[in-house]
Amino acid sequence: MTPSSQATVHGYPRQGADRRLKKAVEAYWAGRIDADALLGTARELRLRNLVELRDAGVDEIPSNYFSFYDHVLDTAWLLGAIPQRHLDAVPDVSSDKGRLDRYFAMARGTAEAPPQEMTKWFDTNYHYLVPELGPDTTFTLDASKPLEEFAEAVEQGVTTRPVLVGPVTFLLLAKDPTATEGFRPLDLLDKVIPLYVDLLRQLREAGAEWVQLDEPALVTDQPAEVLAKVARTYATLGAATNRPKILVASYFDRLGDALPVLAKAPVEGLAIDFTNNAAANLKGLAAIGGIQDKRLVAGVVNGRNIWAADLSAALGTLGTLLGLAGSVDVAASSSLLHVPHDVTLETDLDPEIAGWLSFARQKVQEIVTLRRGLTEGRAAIGTLLHVNETRLASRANSPIVKVPAVRERVVPDLHRDNPYCQRAKAQQSQLHLPELPTTTIGSFPQTAELRKARAALRTGKLDADAYREAMRAEIRAVIAEQERIGLDVLVHGEPERNDMVQYFGEQLTGFLATQQGWVQSYGTRYVRPPIIVGDVSRPAPMTVEWATYAQSLTDKPLKGMLTGPVTMLAWSFVRDDQPEGDTARQVALALRDEVVDLEAAGVKVIQVDEPALRETLPLRAADRAAYLEWAVNSFRLATSGVRDETQIHTHMCYAEFGDVLQAIIDMDADVISLEAARSAMAIVADLAAAGYPNEAGPGVWDIHSPRVPSVEEIVGHLRVAIAAFPAERLWVNPDCGLKTRAYPEVKATLENLVEATVQLRS
Ligand code: GLN
Ligand code: ZN
Repeated sequence: MTPSSQATVHGYPRQGADRRLKKAVEAYWAGRIDADALLGTARELRLRNLVELRDAGVDEIPSNYFSFYDHVLDTAWLLGAIPQRHLDAVPDVSSDKGRLDRYFAMARGTAEAPPQEMTKWFDTNYHYLVPELGPDTTFTLDASKPLEEFAEAVEQGVTTRPVLVGPVTFLLLAKDPTATEGFRPLDLLDKVIPLYVDLLRQLREAGAEWVQLDEPALVTDQPAEVLAKVARTYATLGAATNRPKILVASYFDRLGDALPVLAKAPVEGLAIDFTNNAAANLKGLAAIGGIQDKRLVAGVVNGRNIWAADLSAALGTLGTLLGLAGSVDVAASSSLLHVPHDVTLETDLDPEIAGWLSFARQKVQEIVTLRRGLTEGRAAIGTLLHVNETRLASRANSPIVKVPAVRERVVPDLHRDNPYCQRAKAQQSQLHLPELPTTTIGSFPQTAELRKARAALRTGKLDADAYREAMRAEIRAVIAEQERIGLDVLVHGEPERNDMVQYFGEQLTGFLATQQGWVQSYGTRYVRPPIIVGDVSRPAPMTVEWATYAQSLTDKPLKGMLTGPVTMLAWSFVRDDQPEGDTARQVALALRDEVVDLEAAGVKVIQVDEPALRETLPLRAADRAAYLEWAVNSFRLATSGVRDETQIHTHMCYAEFGDVLQAIIDMDADVISLEAARSAMAIVADLAAAGYPNEAGPGVWDIHSPRVPSVEEIVGHLRVAIAAFPAERLWVNPDCGLKTRAYPEVKATLENLVEATVQLRS
């Protein structure tokens, strides 16, 4: 008997071709289109996806994966968990416009009501809005979005599977703005479950046969007490009488102890990730004897990378899974939200390389092919398997992918010549810095003129010489401004950089840029991550010309600016044919060449930014030591090639450094600048407590807002820092780069920053 199996996905890119959703939403914000027009565009985009998925042969199509901004925000709306300030900001929601405006107020804030906080969706580069749930939060169901999106598909003759964030994950992702002692949002579970019961009933009455509840929080370490709540939640939902069948989905990592809990729950299906870290789920499933009473939606096509799947290997996995579940459906491991839409839009791409890649549309084809292979046998998809094999072989054997000269490069010693205390003396003898030296993190405002110049270079309206002169003019202005303000270590301002990863990716061999490879970062912000396709090397110096030009304009030390290996990987699509640590080592060696060249060109201070070091931390604690080892080693490899007197800086942002303090020490940068202003300099005491022995610049200015902090406020921050950490090892700087700020606030704040420092020195 041939197994019955379906092809399905958890979600699909929302933006449509040419980022239409982004443009429509921004046009609505700017008042150029009205609510009707925006809702119409959204509906059209959803229907296009529906048709695309149906025509591609997807058997069960999801709904409610669409979002105007973010699916966690949609869930807060669904449950009526709307902060009071946003209710007040937009009191009237009787019209579509009112509803949209309140929703966008939660996402973006209004003049009076700040937005909800935003943070990373697990270990992806997608950001969600953090629900605000206090002990007094009450919930009321507004199921209109999932119901309408379900109904609009029914009109097309398609019964979809609505996808919703599950109750446990929703609560675990929330935070309590009142910081009430002893309260956690998960304590609200009993208030939330009845709403889900009601929601399930409404979906059932609308005709839904299946509903998907996403519980990715279960792939992170959860104590037994939380797992008991998971069991209770799904026992209650499962016991509801009038409901669709429930599919509980997890993705991004292994389920571990949560797997037996879900396996025992009275739900009809589980969606499980079998790619990457989650490959361990196969063992886990075998260990519990499978889920014979359930439907398994098997994520065998990676939903987050852009590589063509190994169809034969995936078929092998599916074959094994057949013995472990009541039925096996074929899916991507996660929503395809995390990959670009369509490889065929990359018209400049070498067709051979294009064959190695798989974006959302190609992944759907892979899923459908695998479903056929599973139900009809390998022979039925023989031709496609053969094409796939040829493409995988072409990638494996390509001289772009494996470059002997890069692979054979000897890895030098990771240590600087001498320990920090000795280096510090050598550095002081050539830098002559005052106490509490002042500096910035690298970028200065990216003005409209700079962006225009870059666009003109791309379209050929500006030639390379004219472009260089435009950038040099900006560098002159930025240096003059810093000298006027009286900063101690200057920067060139990074005017030539579109993006701190893309800029280097464009210059390194082994990186590939896309034209249309947009993925959602948050809201209407889309990024085009470069693809690390092969062995990485540096054909020529990348920043030396700009840095030496800037240094030639001033007697003050100029800080050269590079992006570190971990961040280069974190904000790119990384190759899947070798361990990430190996790729990081190649990037580090390329950066090491640049660091050494900068030193040789007379640059005495070099910063290697690693803002992504903390956020790339693996979801499971058991995997963190191995990650931190390659992360730290790659930083050291990039920076240990210089003499004692060359001062190495690093920079990190996104606050929560607690888990990486030892790594920060092990990186052995001479100076680290960190985000600190929003957390009232708490990091300074943490560094001191951890015994951090080198220099630190806790940010005294939260650059995420246009607010100008006063001299007194900065003095206050600095006093907190000095009380906790030796003043002779402290620096004064903003939280992060200034590229998103405007000149008036930058000038005013840096003046205050220098003034505050001068007051404290005396
Ligand atoms: N040097 C970079 C800048 O100033 C650092 C940016 C970041 O930390 N994200 O823009
Ligand atoms: Zn930063």
